[in-house]
Amino acid sequence: MSNDSAAKPATDSNAEPRDFIRQIIREDLASGKHAAIHTRFPPEPNGYLHIGHAKAICLSFGIAREFDGWCNLRLDDTNPGREDPEFVEGIKEDVRWLGYDWHELRHASDYFEVLYRSAIRLIENGQAYVDDLSPEQVREYRGTLTEAGRNSPYRDRPVAENLDLFKRMRAGEFADGSRTLRAKIDMTAGNINLRDPALYRIRKVTHQNTGDSWPIYPMYDFAHALSDAIEGITHSLCTLEFEDHRPLYDWCVANVDLPSHPELWQPLADAGIRTQPATPRQIEFSRLNLSYCITSKRKLAQLVNEAFVDGWDDPRMNTLRGLRRRGFTPAGIRLLIERVGISKQNSVIDYAVFEACIREDLDTHAPRRMAVLDPLKLVVTNLPDDHDETLSFPNHPKDENFGTRDVPFSREVWIEREDFAEVPPKGFKRLVPGGEVRLRGVGIVKCEDVIKDADDQVIELRVSLDPESRHGLPGADRKVKGTIHWVSARHAVAAEVRLYDRLFNVAAPDNEDDGQPWTSHINPDAKRVVQGWLEPAATAAEPEQRFQFERLGYFVADRIDHRPGAPVFNRVVTLRDTWAKQAGG
Ligand code: ATP
Ligand code: MG
Repeated sequence: MSNDSAAKPATDSNAEPRDFIRQIIREDLASGKHAAIHTRFPPEPNGYLHIGHAKAICLSFGIAREFDGWCNLRLDDTNPGREDPEFVEGIKEDVRWLGYDWHELRHASDYFEVLYRSAIRLIENGQAYVDDLSPEQVREYRGTLTEAGRNSPYRDRPVAENLDLFKRMRAGEFADGSRTLRAKIDMTAGNINLRDPALYRIRKVTHQNTGDSWPIYPMYDFAHALSDAIEGITHSLCTLEFEDHRPLYDWCVANVDLPSHPELWQPLADAGIRTQPATPRQIEFSRLNLSYCITSKRKLAQLVNEAFVDGWDDPRMNTLRGLRRRGFTPAGIRLLIERVGISKQNSVIDYAVFEACIREDLDTHAPRRMAVLDPLKLVVTNLPDDHDETLSFPNHPKDENFGTRDVPFSREVWIEREDFAEVPPKGFKRLVPGGEVRLRGVGIVKCEDVIKDADDQVIELRVSLDPESRHGLPGADRKVKGTIHWVSARHAVAAEVRLYDRLFNVAAPDNEDDGQPWTSHINPDAKRVVQGWLEPAATAAEPEQRFQFERLGYFVADRIDHRPGAPVFNRVVTLRDTWAKQAGG
């Protein structure tokens, strides 16, 4: 198995999260308002989930888990044409990967018949009417933030005429966009959402779940509020942009009043779908905004469609599947969400905070290996040509439970080119001509000779190994300034190593005030492919297994392209934040 750390979540502390939503839930349980907590996560299947969705997932699924309730996964599929079964499967996979499972999987489209009956009830109650205004006229009549709207001339149609027209809309008699069903609320309301919002529109488009059976589709606010009520959701958690929609949400729930009208949801019972409608409460929280990230599905789709990246799961993408392929861990993502917390305060979280969470999780859970990405040959001249030694290395410096592994050592090893400097900069602690350095787990070597090619390029270092300094001997404690890693040249396995970095070179790519399109801020160096040399124990990795390559960073065996014997590794994250310096921080 991969070293997925979902089973042992990294947490900040053992303290329970104490945000305002959990506070409300505790009170609702204590007062007996609810016997159990029911939440839902309602993505629209028009793209893959991204890091922003992780906040909504961790909140709704996390609360259900913490309070012994349940959370549904509901595909909010009321926009046919933009939605695709491929995304439905992707969403399910990503939610599970993040460490959550749903009580029931539902589709808003499961409720089309119930929603239709509910609309008829509103018409019968004189609370909805069929409007013949064109979309442009509707906009004109709506008014503005400072100006009241005007009533549509069709607003006072008799109930019987509304019923007849709505049934004919459902029968497919009218052209797309020619009529809408609108709630009759208040065209002078300060909140524009209450100015007779549309409940249904005509759209003759094949639906991914219901095919061609419906020529009319419910609008988001109506479908969402009633779906929550149908499923018996107690706390409907969503992002702040829905705050202004809450009065409409409450209006739909209260006026349809599903709990008192079982005849409306009888179709579900007939279809064997369990329901216990209730009155849900919507609570809003602030979105997760991360610097250097794009959290709009439309823009993520643009990156894919215009080939700026290699697909939705490109390791540079901040989709959940991109992060997964990159090697980010579910526990690290959950830790970020926990750290950021839940509030109504909008803010932008520094991407470095995210990376720190991933490092923290990987530091605990990733075994260590040695790899050299920019090799320079080092020959230990005082060892015989056929020297072949097996060293035992701990797999984790802080956790003995990781055990040890065999690391072969021979006369010729690869070291990182940057671990040698002919003319050392000030403070350089690694190998220099005539200087000494410790070869990790071996002993102290002294640089005796520097071999160059015709272009004056260093191609080989010849060193002597101090036999007294060998690992385990008393002389091993002798102080030298630096320790470097290495890989035995004879035993090393070549690997494709993909060095990933942030996809954008500015913190707010979709918000730069420089007149440039947001795609102009793509970092051309976000992917660099090199050939590296790995110690043999790293090449036995299974796809998605993660390691710390000592001194280089955390790496993951690519879940698609890696093969034992033909290793492909992705850099998850460097060991330290390399962006803080550049940002002057
Ligand atoms: P888009 O408008 O780009 O298609 P969306 O945000 O509307 O995306 P949905 O699929 O409707 O995407 O989102 C499902 C749920 O995830 C919603 O409840 C939404 O509030 C929540 N969500 C989306 N983005 C974020 C974010 N950045 N932070 C927290 N929650 C989010
Ligand atoms: Mg949406």
